[in-house]
Amino acid sequence: MIITTSKPFEEVLKELEGAKSVFLIGCSSCAATCETGGEPQVAEMKAKLEAEGKTVTGAGVYEEVCHELNTKRKFRENKEAVDAADGFLVMCCGAGCQSVREATEKPVHPACNTMFLGNIARLGNFNEKCSLCGDCVLEEFGAICPVTRCHKGILNGPCGGTDDGKCETDREKDCAWTLIYNQLEKEGRLDLYEKIHTVKNWQVSMKPGRVVFQKEGE
Ligand code: SF4
Ligand code: SF4
Repeated sequence: MIITTSKPFEEVLKELEGAKSVFLIGCSSCAATCETGGEPQVAEMKAKLEAEGKTVTGAGVYEEVCHELNTKRKFRENKEAVDAADGFLVMCCGAGCQSVREATEKPVHPACNTMFLGNIARLGNFNEKCSLCGDCVLEEFGAICPVTRCHKGILNGPCGGTDDGKCETDREKDCAWTLIYNQLEKEGRLDLYEKIHTVKNWQVSMKPGRVVFQKEGE
């Protein structure tokens, strides 16, 4: 899931300085789970903006705002309110925001900061465990990612700072390499821990990423 946090309301207001009217967009997928862009947050934002003298021409909480065709379709369905807005406030991730960018030529404003691809430990508690490197090496590390979960992202760890299973950069965090060692030991695969890993192929994670599925016969 994409983890987002809400920008401070003052920052949102500043973004909307030039807009008298605005259309609000939330996302019922990740942003709803993060409580940054679900129905309650969009309703709250609407009330706060109206209290500041803004006209909210419409609001919608769409399923996966990052789905560009779907977002364009929603805009067509809400044409009147969309056309009446000076701009759009998007309460979800940066991908969703840029989906809205494709659907309108008017100003698009982000209401959230996009943090990372996250695992849900429990609601309101998210952890980054994969940083989308494009060349997954989990097989070699007991399915615990050193690229993401080690602060230094080293493939031949641990570093000299590991201390009693904790990371030198943050005593609250487990050293990824202790986790990897413990897991490989459980699996009887400590030979993998001894392996020297060569330089990772970072070329596959060049930005912007693009994947196009080829259908048979094409
Ligand atoms: S190696 Fe780590 S960052 Fe790369 S795809 Fe696998 S889990 Fe994600
Ligand atoms: S202490 Fe462990 S997790 Fe922290 S940087 Fe060193 S090897 Fe990585």
